[in-house]
Amino acid sequence: MLLIEDEPGIVDFLKRGLQAEGFSVQAALDGAEGQDRALNESFDVVVLDLMLPGVAGMDVLSKLRVQKPELPVIVLTAKGEIEDRVAGLDAGAADYLVKPFSLAELLARVRAQLRVAAQAHSATTTLRACDVAVDLLRRKVTRGEETVALSATEFELLVYLMRHSGQVVSREQILSAVWGYEHDPATNVVDVYVGYLRRKLRRPDNPAPIHTVRRVGYRFGNGS
Ligand code: CA
Repeated sequence: MLLIEDEPGIVDFLKRGLQAEGFSVQAALDGAEGQDRALNESFDVVVLDLMLPGVAGMDVLSKLRVQKPELPVIVLTAKGEIEDRVAGLDAGAADYLVKPFSLAELLARVRAQLRVAAQAHSATTTLRACDVAVDLLRRKVTRGEETVALSATEFELLVYLMRHSGQVVSREQILSAVWGYEHDPATNVVDVYVGYLRRKLRRPDNPAPIHTVRRVGYRFGNGS
């Protein structure tokens, strides 16, 4: 388990409590380290505080949702951050706990997530929309019967668009979800990569199902 929390007192308390229950617990004390470790190391569950220095918890969460959709994230929020809690669940948190919480509550949530993860192990790992399918575990993309080879960034962009299939997403939303916090808002990188993706997905008689919505952004789906 990875615990991403900047308050050493809480980290100490949770780490000791969880370890006493037999969990192996790693801690990251800021958002950047937490995001990096969650993406590059193997954990069965992440406990993520939303209020973090550096990279904010919400940014870590949206990055994890795109790159590791199967990894359950339990969000910790301060009392009263109602909007954050709703936004957190919308952004794909598996569950959330409001501070202050007891160790028993956290243990119950962690165990519940591990049970769900075990059940869902091989299910719901494929995104499908129009005639495009994305196997999230094997990172394999097909259009109809044909395999489409994508770069890592193109893959993340496609996953983001397909998770919002039928909705208009702005360039800013795409930038922060796919490129994270290190982006320059003036960049045209989104348009460039949408262009790459369209070229790879299109077939002679069938354009890519990615539509430009003037002055707003893009929409994945059928129709114009
Ligand atoms: Ca904090």
